[in-house]
Amino acid sequence: MKPESATRPESVFAMLPSVDDLIRSEIGQSLITSLGRRRLTVVSRVVIDELREDLKGRKSAELSKESLLDEAGSLLMKRWSETQMTGVRRVINATGVIIHTNLGRAPLSEPARVALLGASSYCSVEYDLRTGERGIRGVRVEEMLCELTDAEGALVVNNCAAAAYLVLTAFASGREVVISRGELVEIGGEFRVPDVLARSGADLKEVGTTNRTKLADYENAISDKTSMILRVHPSNYRIVGFTKAPSLDELADLAHRKGVMIYEDAGSGAVSDLNSISLGDEPVIKESIEAGADVVTFSGDKLLGGPQAGIIVGRSSVIEKLKKDPLYRALRVSKLIYAALEATLESHLRGDASKSIPVLRMAGMEAEQITSRSSAFIKKTPNQRLRLELIEGKSAIGGGSAPLVYPATTLIAIEHNDRSASELEAKLRENDPPVISRILDDKVVIDLRTVSESEETELAAAIEQL
Ligand SMILES: *Cc1c(COP(=O)(O)O)cnc(C)c1O
Repeated sequence: MKPESATRPESVFAMLPSVDDLIRSEIGQSLITSLGRRRLTVVSRVVIDELREDLKGRKSAELSKESLLDEAGSLLMKRWSETQMTGVRRVINATGVIIHTNLGRAPLSEPARVALLGASSYCSVEYDLRTGERGIRGVRVEEMLCELTDAEGALVVNNCAAAAYLVLTAFASGREVVISRGELVEIGGEFRVPDVLARSGADLKEVGTTNRTKLADYENAISDKTSMILRVHPSNYRIVGFTKAPSLDELADLAHRKGVMIYEDAGSGAVSDLNSISLGDEPVIKESIEAGADVVTFSGDKLLGGPQAGIIVGRSSVIEKLKKDPLYRALRVSKLIYAALEATLESHLRGDASKSIPVLRMAGMEAEQITSRSSAFIKKTPNQRLRLELIEGKSAIGGGSAPLVYPATTLIAIEHNDRSASELEAKLRENDPPVISRILDDKVVIDLRTVSESEETELAAAIEQL
């Protein structure tokens, strides 16, 4: 009997391309500049091994040397594009969630981007251009923060969690911190107030109840072990209905009467006049300082609209002590952050933040503005297989800021003749640049509130390709 060559495993494996074949193939050559020869060799070897495994049980009659080389090429390409999809890439945020934590919170203003790029070269981060001598890191930002908030001093660290940790470690380690039960919250991303307190060595002294805490509750809890009263803005969480909490003024008066500190973790914090934008009850940092807070912390990349940073403002004695703490050296920010933050704060000081700071501009956009942009967008995005229609919807502030504020918007709903909503959503995500959309009632929806005018062409191209 003739041997069944078609099922003999050796013959299948003999068709397998070598690593060299794959590198020399068109796809291999096209990846050489991005990957470099050494990595291309490593990845090609992995791909060939994978293909060898996959060949077990396949019949050689269906295969040829050429078809296997093509398969190896596709696998190589797939691996490369998957690697590309796991890094940090610019994306188009079409979700309508303005401070989208997963998408990097606040997009920087144009001046902040320019400043960031400038500082990526040599820069005067610790050099005084007036004297040609060593300068002090962060002075300009600190001055601007004081000007904006009326605080005596300011300091910048890596994020608001670091700011809270530094303040608590420096002032409350081994002592008690009095806090309302209604404020023992988790902000998200593993920031839990009780855990931060514990890690900083402070003893938690809970007062009141989840929904109601009176001034007397605080007063009764203060002893000679108390270092401070802590007030935490609940950020992404609200207790509504039968509630009570003393005002910051009252708490500050009490603290000072008793000789302890009052610290407010404001989280988002508005620094300039946001009257034109309705953001609910977000604390205004200047008002917290005015109310008598000794120290206030907030994030740089929430409503401030700048880079990731934790900002600490307060009494000069407090700030001086924090500056001298070795922990500060470990939590300080880079020249890039100072540069971007400076430019962001300049916008707030100039008084044009509601126009020049992207998160504030997006939050203040009227629904009619979005409607007219959306209808113009639909007209210039023809695609026979798609149905685009405008529907009413809601955007969100996001990032744990103003959780009860959902600005009215107009959404572009997309339906395809033969693709499902989740297929469309995935395809938009795979676009270059990736487009992040939402699915609502089985339709993909796009909210132009969070898409800048300059991104519209790319967005239209992504939609046309669906
Ligand atoms: C967001 C937030 C934090 C954490 O800020 P990061 O900048 O993300 O570290 C801490 N406290 C409050 C009240 C917040 O809202």
